[in-house]
Amino acid sequence: MKTETTIQGLSASLSPARAAKKLIGFVPTMGNLHEGHLNLVREARKLCDVVVVSIFVNPIQFGPNEDFDNYPRTLDQDSKLLAEVGCDIVFAPSVEQMYGKKPRLTNISVGEITNDLCGLQRPGHFDGVAVVVTKLFNIVQPNYAFFGQKDYQQLAVIRQFVQDLNIPLEVIGVPIARAADGLALSSRNGYLSEEQRQTAPVIFQTLKQAEQQLQQKTSLDEVLVNIKAALTQAGLVVDYVEARTPELQKTSEFNQDLVLFVAAKLGKTRLIDNLQVKFTA
Ligand code: AMP
Repeated sequence: MKTETTIQGLSASLSPARAAKKLIGFVPTMGNLHEGHLNLVREARKLCDVVVVSIFVNPIQFGPNEDFDNYPRTLDQDSKLLAEVGCDIVFAPSVEQMYGKKPRLTNISVGEITNDLCGLQRPGHFDGVAVVVTKLFNIVQPNYAFFGQKDYQQLAVIRQFVQDLNIPLEVIGVPIARAADGLALSSRNGYLSEEQRQTAPVIFQTLKQAEQQLQQKTSLDEVLVNIKAALTQAGLVVDYVEARTPELQKTSEFNQDLVLFVAAKLGKTRLIDNLQVKFTA
């Protein structure tokens, strides 16, 4: 496995694969890798000849009071894990390598799907994601790019701008990887104290209970109120509990497929999760 830290170095490493028309798979990450990330790499490995993983903590997707400075940076450990799952090239650029010295004037705003859910709580976040992912797509020029359903809204935003801007690659969504107790794996779980870590699975447990309530035809409003109450009771501070259609449209109907979304703070740590609920007649 090679590690490249410059755009030029990465291009040189990829040029034989490009010349041989090999399929290039790309997994963008911010590092501090866990099984969720590694599953994306395994999917890429199945489908592609060459697998590139980027590790870049992108400053422009963090708000002023968010955790950019403290975000865990664990490149040595990440590299070991990536070698074990068959990654070919790690791309770990500096902020200067990605953004240069001149100010950036171009932005990518993806419209109404970014003015909802996490976009309401984190203004500018999805613009920052769209910019960095587009830059990485242009740098890596993959055939396939892999993203987790853990960040369901992010995946929808990426699919949208890839379609709108005719970016020539296919986006693949990968299911959420969870700990044995149901907690969605996240680099931010490392911020949790032991006690908070024991509380955190309540998010998934509550979402599963909500799924059952929906299947028993409890009204959607009531189900959402129940989720909020259970999370608050467990000591979380709810940012939002919402239901959307799989295409992220607002709805108050339960007789259709739905996605339930939770964002909540446990102490200072903001956790997100979602559950896709299939309609059963
Ligand atoms: P991050 O490093 O948090 O930016 O995540 C990089 C990629 O890994 C994104 O596509 C995430 O959606 C995905 N990811 C993170 N956690 C999980 C998880 N628990 N299950 C599946 N995918 C995940």
